[in-house]
Amino acid sequence: MKYVVIDRGDDLSRQLTERFHTLAAAQGFSLDERQPDIVISIGGDGTLLQAFHRYNHQLDRVSFIGVHTGHLGFYADWQAHELDALAAKMASDEPQYVRYPLVEVVSNTTDGSERYLALNEFTLKGVEGTLVASIHINDELFEMFRGDGIVVSTPSGSTAYNKSLGGAVIHPSIESLQIAEIASINNRVYRTLGSSVVLPKHHHCDIISAKESQRLALVVDHISIERNDIRSLRCTVSDKKICFARYRPFPFWRRVRDAFLTEP
Ligand code: NAD
Repeated sequence: MKYVVIDRGDDLSRQLTERFHTLAAAQGFSLDERQPDIVISIGGDGTLLQAFHRYNHQLDRVSFIGVHTGHLGFYADWQAHELDALAAKMASDEPQYVRYPLVEVVSNTTDGSERYLALNEFTLKGVEGTLVASIHINDELFEMFRGDGIVVSTPSGSTAYNKSLGGAVIHPSIESLQIAEIASINNRVYRTLGSSVVLPKHHHCDIISAKESQRLALVVDHISIERNDIRSLRCTVSDKKICFARYRPFPFWRRVRDAFLTEP
């Protein structure tokens, strides 16, 4: 088994990384940063987002495992003190592979186009003022948006920024994307739906800048890109998925309950 570890960079995560290398050597796993089979993230959900973006060009062959060093993570099912048990399971058991949908966004600028994949969501915000953009669903004008921004999330990202905006929590087996508003301006002149909308995989959404020039921030998970020349964004559910290697069950609704309702 070829593996790599991405850690948060703090003392505890680094110590755990060293410990995992020792355990892995004893089990005969080999460290391979270029073409790993398994990417182990040690830290929090943010660390797994970083690991995803580092290896998202190899999604067809790579699977991910999350170890959390703080509170329960949405993507990290193993705790720091379970590292030995994890290495032993990796050596002896065949994992269950669980695949979650991703959102693809293609930004069209005056220079050409760029494609991004998000594990949680992407956000479009105005940098110097209100974002003004028309939203089209399946090539038909849906609404004209004025406000702070728009968040387009994956099902597994629905419990992150989307949830803070009042969006619905969506099970990751439902191939969909969710569009939520950040502080839309609603009065007699400007009108948006107000609630978030969920699109199935075979639908697409375009967000088209309605100003000649506006400085926009496109934030893909934790990565922020600011540009003056974004003309439009095409959002779809990607054909690619992230694959998690599960050596024990980690049910989504239990995670939601334990994170938001009751202590485990
Ligand atoms: P971070 O580490 O500060 O993460 C913010 C919080 O979001 C952490 O508590 C993390 O555990 C949690 N989180 C991340 N993914 C989650 C998920 N899928 N479900 C439930 N909780 C999740 O910041 P970061 O590492 O830069 O993470 C970026 C993420 O922060 C973004 O993808 C976005 O979802 C989230 N965020 C949330 C808000 C908000 O809720 N108002 C605002 C900005 C960003």
